Amino acid sequence: MGIIVAIDGPAGAGKSSTAKEVAFQLGFIYIDTGAMYRAVTLEVIRSNVDVSNENQVTLIAKKLNIQFRWINKYLRTFLNNEDVSDEIRSSEVADLVSPVSAIPGVRDVMVKCQRDMAKRDNIVMEGRDIGTNVFPSADFKFYLDADIDVRAKRRISDYKKIGQELTLKEIKKEIKIRDKIDSSRRYSPLKKAYNAIIIDTTNLSFKEQVEMIVNRVKKVLS
Ligand code: C5P
Repeated sequence: MGIIVAIDGPAGAGKSSTAKEVAFQLGFIYIDTGAMYRAVTLEVIRSNVDVSNENQVTLIAKKLNIQFRWINKYLRTFLNNEDVSDEIRSSEVADLVSPVSAIPGVRDVMVKCQRDMAKRDNIVMEGRDIGTNVFPSADFKFYLDADIDVRAKRRISDYKKIGQELTLKEIKKEIKIRDKIDSSRRYSPLKKAYNAIIIDTTNLSFKEQVEMIVNRVKKVLS
């Protein structure tokens, strides 16, 4: 097992962009576990399966092949060899991803995959339950949070990039619902690990939040 840096927190707290840059600066592998749950959700939508059908949804998760590949400096998500990086960011997927992720069978498949990915390399893994459930003894645990308005604003540009125009109000509603489902589900809910370092990114620049994590890791490892 390599060195594990776990980064958890609610939607839009800046986890993905931060974790990616932290991994780059440390020379670690970056793993976006939200993209994995989004890929399962996309397949559920495409297969016309109702999210309340837990057995069918779990079966879909079991059959999927999810991979990450770097293409022209961008980390892309592949679902059964198809690049779905943009599609998994759509509001249709965002609206269904939390109910899909609350299904224990789906989580078991994803968590096993995530643990396998960390067998050989040093990794930065980002999600909701990394420090609490996937790697409870991770070498480093961070919990990123930010004010709801700031988090919603950050998401606006993410949607623009894939050609979806959503209002601040719509995005706020979406992330509030997701956070509520994610933190109240019975099976590995989103919560701060007791020994995680909390970083409130509301008033931090991107550079500052990356530095806080990188400096901490380098200090301990040196
Ligand atoms: O990080 P992102 O916003 O892309 O995550 C999408 C959704 O995937 C979350 O709202 C949550 O429902 C689910 N998720 C999860 N556990 C993780 C990562 C993401 O349940 N480790």
